[in-house]
Amino acid sequence: MCGIVGHLGKFNALDAVLNGLEHLEYRGYDSAGIAYAVENQIFISKEKGRVSELKKIIKASSSTLAIGHTRWATHGEVNRVNAHPHSSQCERFVLVHNGIIENYQRLKQIYLENYIFKSQTDTEVIVNLIAFFSQDLSVEEAIRKTMSLLEGSYACLILDTQQADKIFFIKDKSPLLLGISSLGVSFASDITGLIGFAEEFMPLEDKTFGIATTDSLEIYDIIGLKKETKFKKISVKMEDIDKRAYDHFMLKEIHEQPMMIRKIIDHYFTKEEVRIPERLLHTIRQSDKINFVACGSSMYASYFAKYFFEKLCSIPSEVFCASELVYSTPFITKRPFFIFFSQSGETADCIAVMKKFKKQGYPILTITNTIESSMVRLSDYALELCAGKEIAVASTKAYTAMIVVSAILARAVHHAKTNLKNNLKAVSLAMERVLENKEVCMRIAKELVLDRDAFFIGRGIDYWTALEASLKLKEIAYIHTEAYSSGELKHGPIALITKGTPVIAIITQEGTNRVTRSNLTETASRGARTYVIASKSLAIPEDDVIIPNVAHYLSGIISAMVCQLIAYYAAVYRGNDVDKPKNLAKSVTVE
Ligand code: GLU
Repeated sequence: MCGIVGHLGKFNALDAVLNGLEHLEYRGYDSAGIAYAVENQIFISKEKGRVSELKKIIKASSSTLAIGHTRWATHGEVNRVNAHPHSSQCERFVLVHNGIIENYQRLKQIYLENYIFKSQTDTEVIVNLIAFFSQDLSVEEAIRKTMSLLEGSYACLILDTQQADKIFFIKDKSPLLLGISSLGVSFASDITGLIGFAEEFMPLEDKTFGIATTDSLEIYDIIGLKKETKFKKISVKMEDIDKRAYDHFMLKEIHEQPMMIRKIIDHYFTKEEVRIPERLLHTIRQSDKINFVACGSSMYASYFAKYFFEKLCSIPSEVFCASELVYSTPFITKRPFFIFFSQSGETADCIAVMKKFKKQGYPILTITNTIESSMVRLSDYALELCAGKEIAVASTKAYTAMIVVSAILARAVHHAKTNLKNNLKAVSLAMERVLENKEVCMRIAKELVLDRDAFFIGRGIDYWTALEASLKLKEIAYIHTEAYSSGELKHGPIALITKGTPVIAIITQEGTNRVTRSNLTETASRGARTYVIASKSLAIPEDDVIIPNVAHYLSGIISAMVCQLIAYYAAVYRGNDVDKPKNLAKSVTVE
């Protein structure tokens, strides 16, 4: 969940690494640190907080080689001592690490009893193991021996102060990309960390070990066999990761959604036909059940996908929470098909489930925004969200893209000619109308600023939107919210309604309009402050947000956008760091 960057070559490595860390800061921002070489001597600077804090304490202005880290703490509190890089007790080795070493306590007991540890991190065990084994082995062998003992996940960049012109790297489960240009070699946890300093990249495979110098690059697999390098051009540009005139990435990404839908249409449709490989469609058609696996917002988007596949394709479907599915054994039908949703394609919980079902030979599709990702490499099939880089931690456009792409996939599986393409175009226009009238969302957000609790309610499609709306308000505005199917309120939660409790109802479905309104009135009778977000055809003049009508099965996209705006402005008015909410990270690469 953190960001790792490294550089060695003709660029100023301090610039390359600090720049890369800033681009990767959305992945982790508890603390930041860097180790850099000046005239063959390694210096370390680290600081609690953001990369901007780190920059203030760096003494040097240039360097030929550097490794850096932004942390999302898993072991040990957030402070300067626990920040990376960590050095071995003898100070010979320096290391940055992304991931978790699950057996670090045991390794400490077996090999490092006489070592004094400075930090509370699991990471410090790795660097000390390398130091321990290097007493009898070459550095390469010591690193490899260490790799063979580690359980868990890691992407590490390692420096040896006795040969300060090399970067050693190892990787298993946590992501690590290698970038090259005529001016040097770079490393980063994702592509944004390479922009500006590498022209081509390749993702490293699990259990890789390697050594980079200014004029050589060696990559080995677990048994020490040399691996071929295969680089691809980096297509993400600096402007793709720029906030432009927006105050926050989240606001920019909310605004990008109408255009994104048009891009998705262009990507997947040729005139009226959908462009998806026939082999994938055939495999889905053969299956007797679709199992959707995801986490967070992606899981809430999966409810829409389940609806599309059941309604349109008549294939029974079920949504699974990845972190639950890893440790449970649900009933699996004879011909199951698995569809995973993940913005980053690196979600550790999803990867764990994927490995489990891949072993059993079941067909797997990943729908992701990051086509060069671990989940895609593990899958049989992949579809791209085409949402463009999403930087804000709270997902907006990737969530919407998941609903859109799954609707297109279901339509392709079903063969039938539906009006989907035009309906999606209408959604894109409707989203523009919502953005033009966002003052009403700002007004609701302002009224929520002092609230500690809130409820979102709806039924069916509107309930799934309520789940996502509630998550958004929690994660960036830090308001405790609950999402309920409106019919469930009277089975318990209504006891929590007191004078002034905000209850926001989402009403876009004709069949449930009347009952949801009745349930909302029941809360108003008990003192709730009620709000209604309703589709135009179902709205009454007193409703707060009246959204344009679109095809009923796509209406959730519009109401979710309204809730994204409410959450965004509530967070802004509360003075929160919208793009980097506390305790969270964008790419959840630990289980
Ligand atoms: N487990 C390490 C720590 O807590 C690395 C966390 C990370 O990936 O940022 O320091």
